Amino acid sequence: MKFFYLSSKPNKVGHFEIHDKECELIPDSLERDYLGPFNNGREALRKAQLMKSNAVCCENCCLTNSQTVFITAKSEEAQ
Ligand SMILES: [Zn+2]
Repeated sequence: MKFFYLSSKPNKVGHFEIHDKECELIPDSLERDYLGPFNNGREALRKAQLMKSNAVCCENCCLTNSQTVFITAKSEEAQ
């Protein structure tokens, strides 16, 4: 489990980035909202998109190693 935050300020292209607590790119405490604890960035993204429809995962902290695990679990379920 990691703790995730959603930026309350859009980035350069107008998206709101999700970061885990340890990310070096996380915004200042006044410029982020607490999302909660999640297993990975994809779960955090689902919650964040309910709050801001153009929320995205931070490339530095959220996108690493979550994708392959997610796809593997999905294809096993389908059978
Ligand atoms: Zn980040």
